Amino acid sequence: MTRRHSQLDLRVYIVRIRSKDGMFRFDLQPTADAGELAAKILEITKNADPSSITLSDKPNGAEQQLSGLVGYTLQALNIKHGDLLYLKYKTYDEQGPTGQSATTTAASTSNASDDKAEPKRPWELVNEEPVDVYWRSRDGKIPRKRDAKFCKHGDKGMCDYCMPLEPYDAGYHKDKAIKHLSFHAHLRKLQPAQGSTLASSSSTANLPPLQPESYSVKVPCPTASHPSFPQGICTTCQPAAITLQPQTFRMVDHVEFASKEVVDRFIDGWRKTGVQRFGFLIGRYEPYAEVPMGIKAVVEAIHEPPQHGDPDGLTVALPWEDEKRIKELGSWCYLDEEMKKNGKGPIEVLGQIFTDLTAQPDDRSKLVYKRHPQSFYMSSLEVIFAAKMQAAHPTVTRGSRTGEYGSRFVTAIVTGTEEGGVDIQSFQVSEQAVAMVQADMITASRNPQVIIVQKETEGRYIPEVFYRSKNQYGIEVKESAKPTFPVDFLLVNITHGFPLQPSPLFRSPKGFPIENRHGIEEQTTDKLLAEINQIDAASVVASPIDSSFEARRAREKVAKWLSDWHLLAYWNQVEIIGREDIKAIAKVATSPNFEEATVLDPLLERDGWQTLTAVAVESAPSKSRNTGSLSRPMDNDGFEEIPPELLEEMGMDVDSGSRPRSRLDTGPGASTSSGTKMCPHCTFENDASARDCEVCGLPL
Ligand SMILES: [Zn+2]
Ligand SMILES: [Zn+2]
Ligand SMILES: [Zn+2]
Repeated sequence: MTRRHSQLDLRVYIVRIRSKDGMFRFDLQPTADAGELAAKILEITKNADPSSITLSDKPNGAEQQLSGLVGYTLQALNIKHGDLLYLKYKTYDEQGPTGQSATTTAASTSNASDDKAEPKRPWELVNEEPVDVYWRSRDGKIPRKRDAKFCKHGDKGMCDYCMPLEPYDAGYHKDKAIKHLSFHAHLRKLQPAQGSTLASSSSTANLPPLQPESYSVKVPCPTASHPSFPQGICTTCQPAAITLQPQTFRMVDHVEFASKEVVDRFIDGWRKTGVQRFGFLIGRYEPYAEVPMGIKAVVEAIHEPPQHGDPDGLTVALPWEDEKRIKELGSWCYLDEEMKKNGKGPIEVLGQIFTDLTAQPDDRSKLVYKRHPQSFYMSSLEVIFAAKMQAAHPTVTRGSRTGEYGSRFVTAIVTGTEEGGVDIQSFQVSEQAVAMVQADMITASRNPQVIIVQKETEGRYIPEVFYRSKNQYGIEVKESAKPTFPVDFLLVNITHGFPLQPSPLFRSPKGFPIENRHGIEEQTTDKLLAEINQIDAASVVASPIDSSFEARRAREKVAKWLSDWHLLAYWNQVEIIGREDIKAIAKVATSPNFEEATVLDPLLERDGWQTLTAVAVESAPSKSRNTGSLSRPMDNDGFEEIPPELLEEMGMDVDSGSRPRSRLDTGPGASTSSGTKMCPHCTFENDASARDCEVCGLPL
């Protein structure tokens, strides 16, 4: 199969920097983080105090702190191809003496606190995620029980057989079949935790252990002995030979889908159309207890961007223009100090997911088993795509000298199993893969199993690339990776699963339509207003006004209805209420406890909400007006029964029982009220008048 991401942004910008040391040129992608630019700038400055570095698009004035730009892409900062930026900085010498002497002189002056502050290095400026703060503050050691056979001491004693293990203990990982070290175990292995009595933070011994891989020629050459590449090159500025090896650690250990429904609704897009779907994973990073110092990505929703699907692939418009809005929306979701203390981060974009599903021709109820050891897990095109996405979503960390290292952006693929069922496979690509893509060294092949190493051209230097493999005699040999090498060298496996006792963040009993699913389901303001009336939101009042049990249940019902990512994203997009109102909705929708009497109060008090619910009542057809919620019989899920005529109006199916059934629940072969007939073989929804299925051709 082929998978196309034809609108991928492959441009490279040249950004020029003028400083007191001369003029410099850097090649950067528009999606590169300013942190990448900052790292390059640090290389061309001499003895610079990083906290003093400023950039401006004018020779004088409008200077911006370089550290303040980190975390934004060049595009976001409006830096364009060919732009000339002016760099200013102070050296440590200009800043006055540092270290011991500075502290003693400072003590005798009036502005002691200013002088005392040591210059900040890039990694000291970053704001790590709660999950990183969580692991950094723990030793991560693996506790062991007293060994009945070998321990010769009592219950309180300790010996070599029961002493806690280091978080990177190889034997433990082998026993538990954990194939990769977690990021923090990897960090701890490189730099064991140091007691506070050891060297101060300014000592070189405390330099962060990591530095992002770079396979580009250093410009300008650190020796300053020749003109910059491509005019000149020497052994100092050219990248060293690369030996590809499977990565021993991973930035994320596990992907947890908060509920089966999240994935099922996503796959539904394929079921209903027969074309592949793409989505972004929305949720938060948290500690993962199954792996020493582990991190899991907990997926609460799948946001579907504009896309064009085909039966054998899909096209997504990138860069994703909505990403900034979605990120901001995530930051408005509920997050308290207790959650942060437990390592839970904000709601954010965790990665991507796409389907690669094809029904078996002889049995449409089963899927084709496509991705296995004899074919591929990720195609070369997908690997390159994932590398670009990871590069665009760097992880900030104090463990790296640039303040950034790797990425926690994961790729999940929904595909057929050996038995014909459906399953998910989760991956990241290695830091080597990302660095090779950033150096424009590799490209996808028609053969999905191999990656092509680019040919050297004017302005593109390609170092030697090797990989190790076993030859026909079973002996390990070093082979040149030119012109191609197997994609497997670049893959990092991530486990995935569902919680045994799901407690999803978004708890709406019946989902609002998913965005960008034109032709399958539509998000409309009519539907929104109808649902507001359906839950009788206009008559719900705040807890100080009515503290009765019924009023509390009514508030809980509204909170539950609001608790839907797709609805949240829709509010935020149509802007029928103000920004502050949406912030209040986001917080309510993600609150941990809907049974709390006051949960809805901050929203109910807002003018925007009151106006909206009033408008909804005005817009409702007269027959559904003036029916108080308490006069209606309650269904056993705590929701009132909805009059059948209103259900029909909302495109809902009405069956013989009293429960509303959404069209999503329609069983195979059933004809729905809105005039479609679902194929019993492939579940495609055909026109009601069709006799054979449009997708699989079998009789309906
Ligand atoms: Zn012992
Ligand atoms: Zn050189
Ligand atoms: Zn069919």
